Amino acid sequence: MAKVFVITGHGGVDSGASGFGFTEAERIRALAARMKALGGADVTIGDTSIDYYSTGAISNLNLPAGTQIVELHLDAASSTARGGHVIIKPGLTPDAIDNAIADFISGYFQGRSNKIVNQALSNADRAAAKGYPYRLVECCFITNHADLTKFNNNLDAIARGLLNAMGIKTEEVKKTGWEQVGKKWKYKKNGKYVVNDWVSDKGAWYFIGADGFMMTGWIKTSGKWYYLNPVSGKKHHDGKTYKEGQMVTGWLYDAKRWFYLSTKYDDANGIVLGAMIVGLYVVAGIAYYFCPAARTKELKVAEGQMVTGKVAINCNFNSSGGLIMKQ
Ligand SMILES: [Zn+2]
Repeated sequence: MAKVFVITGHGGVDSGASGFGFTEAERIRALAARMKALGGADVTIGDTSIDYYSTGAISNLNLPAGTQIVELHLDAASSTARGGHVIIKPGLTPDAIDNAIADFISGYFQGRSNKIVNQALSNADRAAAKGYPYRLVECCFITNHADLTKFNNNLDAIARGLLNAMGIKTEEVKKTGWEQVGKKWKYKKNGKYVVNDWVSDKGAWYFIGADGFMMTGWIKTSGKWYYLNPVSGKKHHDGKTYKEGQMVTGWLYDAKRWFYLSTKYDDANGIVLGAMIVGLYVVAGIAYYFCPAARTKELKVAEGQMVTGKVAINCNFNSSGGLIMKQ
């Protein structure tokens, strides 16, 4: 059974290259963590707290015979450069594993002129001196937005591709839950990332945007406005403390205005939980008027804002004499 030893490029405090708010060291460690999770006992992650270049730590490794070393990086150049490739020691011809990794990474991240290059690297020399098969993989460019976005959205697929190329079988993990990417959050449902949809978690609702990240603040979806709590731990008017991104219900005071976000589903009136109320609406026995979009200019308030003072309302009564609350 093949064993893999992963060196995460830029160990210790070296953050490596950066792009679009991400650092190479953090992204590579996230990928290595997925390789460990998917590859299990066959995968060892080298100590990420040390810099393998300045310490020469490869020379002190004591790996079982046949262990494959793979060192992972993200490249940096102009914003248009993209693609992945494999680097091996000058004078060596690629072995089957070098070729398999290069086929995978250059196919997954296209754009390089060569899928394998010979280039002098002190870690490659140190590995060769110990008889360890070694290659460095530049997975893609952190400075190219399309490369980085694909990398961030497909950590498991990349981890799997690299492991499979080294002869390690990975099992399909049907995972459900949150994943942190930098300061943002993604949500996976049965192994698939949620995009442009609601997520229900521990009795609370969250919304994942078209870019795959959890949203905060006001959002409009399916024709209705909702408010997603922007900062973790904020207490709203109902006395409840909300998590970051959590959908707020009940009274909301925002930008010096009062709004009301439905606390219940009311199919007969087309009202859903959390949706911003417009028109006449009764809360705790008192009727309020929340400005419909059609009257924002005339009443000089925002859509959904609670109106005060003297306001003319055109009321509608049904055949039983009941006031129709929808405006
Ligand atoms: Zn690097």
